[in-house]
Amino acid sequence: ALEAIPLFSDGENEPFQAYAVFEDITRQKEAEAALKESERRYLLAQIAGGVGIWDWHPKTEHLFWDRSCWVMLGEEPEDCILCYDDWRDRVHPDDIVRVEEEIGKDIAEDEGFSVEFRLRTANGDWSWINGRGRVVERDGDGQITRVMGTHTKIHERKLAELAFQAEHEALLSKNLELRLLAKVFTHAFEGIVIAGRDGTIVKVNEAACRISGYESHEMVGRNARMFLSGDQSDAFYAELWKSLRRNGSWSGEVWNRRKDGTKYCEAITIGAVLNQSGKTQHYVGWISDITAGKEQQRRLEFIANYDNLTGLPNRKLLGEKLSRALVDAKRHGQIVGVAYVDLDGFKEVNDSLGHDAGDTLLKVVAGRMKSCLRSNDTVARFGGDEFVVVLTSLREASGAIPMVERLLKATDIRGAFGRSESRVSASIGITFYHPSSGDEPDQLVRYADQAMYEAKLMGKNRYHVFDPVQDNALRDRHSMLRRIQTALDENEFVLYYQPKVNMRSGDVLGMEALIRWNHPEQGLLAPGSFLPGVESAPIGDKISDWVIEAALAQMSAWGKEGVWLPVSVNVSGHDLQREDFVGRLRGLLEKYPDVPAGFLSLEVLETSAIGDMEHAGSVISACAAMGVDFALDDFGTGYSSLAHLRRLPARTLKIDRSFVHDMLVDADDLMILEGVMGLASAFRRQTIAEGVETVAHGEMLLDLGCDMAQGYAIARPMPAGEVKLWVAEWRPYRAWYERTPLSSKWIPVLVAAVYHRAWMCQALDGLMGKGAGHLPAYDLCRFGTWVRDDARALLQSDEEFSEISRMHRKVHELADGLIDRIDHVPGEKRQRQVDVFLRSSDQLLGYLRAVITREIYGHSEEQEIGYLNPQVSS
Ligand code: C2E
Ligand code: CA
Ligand code: CA
Repeated sequence: ALEAIPLFSDGENEPFQAYAVFEDITRQKEAEAALKESERRYLLAQIAGGVGIWDWHPKTEHLFWDRSCWVMLGEEPEDCILCYDDWRDRVHPDDIVRVEEEIGKDIAEDEGFSVEFRLRTANGDWSWINGRGRVVERDGDGQITRVMGTHTKIHERKLAELAFQAEHEALLSKNLELRLLAKVFTHAFEGIVIAGRDGTIVKVNEAACRISGYESHEMVGRNARMFLSGDQSDAFYAELWKSLRRNGSWSGEVWNRRKDGTKYCEAITIGAVLNQSGKTQHYVGWISDITAGKEQQRRLEFIANYDNLTGLPNRKLLGEKLSRALVDAKRHGQIVGVAYVDLDGFKEVNDSLGHDAGDTLLKVVAGRMKSCLRSNDTVARFGGDEFVVVLTSLREASGAIPMVERLLKATDIRGAFGRSESRVSASIGITFYHPSSGDEPDQLVRYADQAMYEAKLMGKNRYHVFDPVQDNALRDRHSMLRRIQTALDENEFVLYYQPKVNMRSGDVLGMEALIRWNHPEQGLLAPGSFLPGVESAPIGDKISDWVIEAALAQMSAWGKEGVWLPVSVNVSGHDLQREDFVGRLRGLLEKYPDVPAGFLSLEVLETSAIGDMEHAGSVISACAAMGVDFALDDFGTGYSSLAHLRRLPARTLKIDRSFVHDMLVDADDLMILEGVMGLASAFRRQTIAEGVETVAHGEMLLDLGCDMAQGYAIARPMPAGEVKLWVAEWRPYRAWYERTPLSSKWIPVLVAAVYHRAWMCQALDGLMGKGAGHLPAYDLCRFGTWVRDDARALLQSDEEFSEISRMHRKVHELADGLIDRIDHVPGEKRQRQVDVFLRSSDQLLGYLRAVITREIYGHSEEQEIGYLNPQVSS
């Protein structure tokens, strides 16, 4: 370094003498260069190693990034200072929360931190960075004033790590999926059969073995044709293959043959499995055995629709066939004849020759009537010795007369059973349905009945045609419709509400709205007295809209008082046929936005009258999509309701009150009820019973597994104003509350007990001189069948079993003896014998009571089981 110091001047500021001082600064220079070099080396190393340094001053919010920090993001910054928010903006939005959290936490605990996150690069991509750092300075108050650390570029490593992780997870889940699939395959409840393209079976699961009765190795390698039963036509299989080729799948029901030769019905879905080039490689069939369901359904349909004795359709089925015939007739402009046939002289045969002779005679008459009708006509037994015949597709009324005459001839039977005095004939009343008249099925049967009565009056063994002029029902109908319009205008209709409850838990499930007519002169009218015949008229639609709206308005009003109650409303099958039903319903729901759509449900009546099931089904689905639930009302009363179960996606089946009412005294009704419950569970529907009139009805239903109910024993329909108080106060009966469920193997005991009670009633009638004293004999008794076939397995001890069989035999002997000698025994003695008989019967019921209480309550003390109470002695 050289420093010059001026010493003299010539006065013009020109120096002329100077000293100079020299200093050797080589060291300093070298040190400076070394430092620069070191700094440079350091920076280069940083850049090469992808490490940058940052320096953050939380108080000023200034953040210093060194060049390396910028370079690793591809930037060439002019100003190296940025503020905290700039940094925040550069962090990937998915990472920022986590990063701030981790940094905040580590700083608070005064530990160094290390976080991985993405920063935006110069070209807008993201680069993975590892940020490390720690607090390096605090002020006197302990506030952080400086934090320093590094950024390390970890982009490539992180990407590889993430890719590996994803792959690993995919593998794991694939592995899991495969294991799951294998498990599903082996343990599926449904049978699974996998076959090659030519039908050769490749693999089957356990369920397929169980269903078909073959072992796995007996199936693998053979063609799937091995199961064919020959019940399906070639056309059936052609259709199946067509569907498989076109849609890659087919499902339906097939009757196949098990290894032991028996046939079974399976529901099967076949799917084609394609290889990568889209060609079929395998077929997979999922099968489930629905034979039991089929048979049960067939049996049920038979009990519900046919007369046991003659095998003819019963009253219910006739109603449906007649309705259908009327719909067809209307469409084709044809006439339908309805004939009411009542036998003359039948009672005499029955009384003089006995019940068995009477039964035989009825069977003969039924067969003969059937054989003189055409295949599309129907003859049904209406009860006793009454039959109804429906003659379809008539072009004119007179076309029916030859057939009626044939019926007269067929029923004219003399000298049966080798007795010349036995003679029956028939009195027939007939009426005609003309498409223009619009008569209802019930009405037609009533007219025919009226005409039959005329025929009797005129001397029997003849027919009489109903004369509509005599009947003013038609005229009534028009004035009735006008009057109903006035009732709507004058607001004379009201809704009553009947609770639906869970008997076991005591929960109130909701209310059913039932229409009443507050008639100014006649008082409160039940729907039965004004709705029939009105529903199908245009005004029926208006009533139906009124009912739904009134129910919604009521729910909304209750809601405002803090009571939220679901309400169900009855809709006729006719309503579901309306084109605009869904639209109207939606409109009404929108009018009451505070009422949740799920609180409204609809009970569909007379499903048998539904002509277009497709439409009805889609209406139900559309309503369900809005949240409105459906129940099939009066379920079990018709063939149609069983058949329609598959097609109408309603969530609930409401078991008709006729079965509920009679189930305690009629074993058939009990079996229908039980069958309906079985169907419901097979089709995954819930059941509710209506018409629960006594505590005992409820007990029986609970023991059968039906918890939801409605009926007079719970509450009668009440005005809306009484509902709140009722809901607050209702408690289930003690016998119902949390009653232990009965397992299904005990149900035959209930059926047997009911059968015995019915038998007792019959026996008593015989003893009182009512009826003909005709009792099923000991060896035909269904209680006896139960004792013989099932009782031993259920009873705890041999003594119990032999006691019950002994008692049962004794009751029969007593009854038979009593009835045989009834007329020869003096009154006093007879009373004593009747008492013994009654006591024995009650004793028998007592045994059953003990058996069932032991099952329900787990001990042998006798407990109330209302439906097994000694009904007769009291
Ligand atoms: P449903 O739908 O089967 O209604 C139940 C009927 O059974 C009601 O008669 C109810 O009072 C009665 N009930 C309830 N519990 C018992 C009981 O324990 N024992 C007996 N014997 N009966 C019981 P209701 O109110 O006379 O209604 C009769 C029928 O009229 C209803 O039968 C339904 O089919 C029809 N209906 C009622 N309201 C409406 C409505 O708003 N619209 C339409 N389309 N039909 C309605
Ligand atoms: Ca109902
Ligand atoms: Ca009902």
